[in-house]
Amino acid sequence: MRIVVTGAAGFLGSHLCDFLIEKGHVVIGLDNLITGTTRNIEHLAGNHRFKFIKHDVTEYIYISGPVDAILHFASPASPVDYLEYPIQTLKVGALGTHKALGLAREKKARFLLASSSEVYGDPLVHPQREDYWGNVNPIGPRGVYDEAKRFAEALTFAYHRTHGIDTKIARIFNTYGPRMRSGDGRVVPNFITQALAGKPLTVYGDGTQTRSFCYVSDLIEGIYKLLVSEVNDPVNLGNPHEMRIIDFARKIIELTGSKSDIVFEKLPVDDPKVRQPDITRAKDLLGWQPRVKLEDGLAKAIEYFKEIEHA
Ligand code: UDP
Repeated sequence: MRIVVTGAAGFLGSHLCDFLIEKGHVVIGLDNLITGTTRNIEHLAGNHRFKFIKHDVTEYIYISGPVDAILHFASPASPVDYLEYPIQTLKVGALGTHKALGLAREKKARFLLASSSEVYGDPLVHPQREDYWGNVNPIGPRGVYDEAKRFAEALTFAYHRTHGIDTKIARIFNTYGPRMRSGDGRVVPNFITQALAGKPLTVYGDGTQTRSFCYVSDLIEGIYKLLVSEVNDPVNLGNPHEMRIIDFARKIIELTGSKSDIVFEKLPVDDPKVRQPDITRAKDLLGWQPRVKLEDGLAKAIEYFKEIEHA
């Protein structure tokens, strides 16, 4: 297939490009590089199956020649980033999704939206199943991301129903691994870089809030299975292994062998109290479930942050 990936220089986008090229596909990657970096794709330079175009996908996307699939992964994806780029976050979820769907329509290509567990907001149903409609504050600081993803899902379904486009929606839960930006503010890069530097780990709130962490290779495999499936309904992709953030901090201290302490800081506004994917649908319809154990995935992530620290 000839595949367009938006957000190609980001954390997930760049792993996706690697995976697709490895499978023998040709990839055209787009990114405006506001949160992505060409360092994530520099190893693909000169690869005849990869082409990079610096482009803001909220503007018209022109691609010459046939396209079989479009994977829309462009968006700031960390709470710190979408506080810094609130309007860009809304625009890429709304206008960017519109342009990417327009390209799918023009090329008669299938389309996959990188949606998010954030569509469930601070969930009142636990674990989260795809038929839960969510609990989102539209005007809170996270609303720019949550509502952008919810709008993107609505637009994707409208294109499916109105124009018969073969669309997929992946609701991605917390994912981690190499190529996360050390300063992106998310819990995995924060805790690992703090532990490696011997600085205190900053637990927000009392640390009893929960998250469930999926290693990037598992996630990418799930994305690909969804892309080549016949499924059009949203599918949760994530690892159901749920833990409290305080226990996650202790785990990082243990795995890095750090002497860091833990300090408690203010909980961000609207920070979800719990999060765990119900992955029954992914198991039943895609035959997918994560395989990488937390310790193994974190060992790779820690290795990566050690390397970039010394680079
Ligand atoms: N968090 C934390 N310390 C940090 C960064 C994040 O305790 O230095 C918490 C944050 O409040 C949230 C969880 O870790 O409860 C996951 O945060 P992240 O920013 O990774 O993403 P989220 O799951 O909230 O979208």
